[in-house]
Amino acid sequence: MKKVVLLIGHNKDSQGALDYNGTSEYTFNKIVASKVQENLYGDIWTFTKGEYNYESIRKINPDLVIELHFNSYPGPIFGSECIVLNDEKCFEAATHFQKYFNKRFDISSREIKVVMGRHQRGYKNLLKLGGIPSFIFEPCFANFETIDSEKIIGNPDDYVDFLTDYISFYLGKQDKVNYNVYEKMIGLIQSWYKGNTNE
Ligand SMILES: [Zn+2]
Repeated sequence: MKKVVLLIGHNKDSQGALDYNGTSEYTFNKIVASKVQENLYGDIWTFTKGEYNYESIRKINPDLVIELHFNSYPGPIFGSECIVLNDEKCFEAATHFQKYFNKRFDISSREIKVVMGRHQRGYKNLLKLGGIPSFIFEPCFANFETIDSEKIIGNPDDYVDFLTDYISFYLGKQDKVNYNVYEKMIGLIQSWYKGNTNE
């Protein structure tokens, strides 16, 4: 049986960026990860920084590590990002995950960002996971209310559903990732978006 670890980006003392509701990356992703953990009880491990050291993750010997974050930028921009080391296994893992995420949420991909130096974001953390297929995931730019951020920040249960679904699929517990639940949602969001831009 494969093993998956979810890491919650940031920590209690340094909580990362704020979303458009004023909730931090740390708080948002802690809620998301604990719900995914509940759904997949016994099949995955979740950690927040400060509660783990990298040695304990290595002992689990996971097949996949996903570190949850979200992006922010001083302007409403769009798309999801994965950040990986220059490692084929990490690149493959991130590409696979992002393909399903982008399809499920109809959010565009800002591609996989490969970090190669200490000054680049995430590099130091990822280096500590070196050899394990791992990536940092930023589902959207969350600090402005946009059609993208509304799908994730405004509907965290949907994001929880997707992560649960994807990991179940990855673990071989189901034979596909489901999209149908989301199609209804896209219709709702598109009408919301039109309502907000046609004023
Ligand atoms: Zn972050």
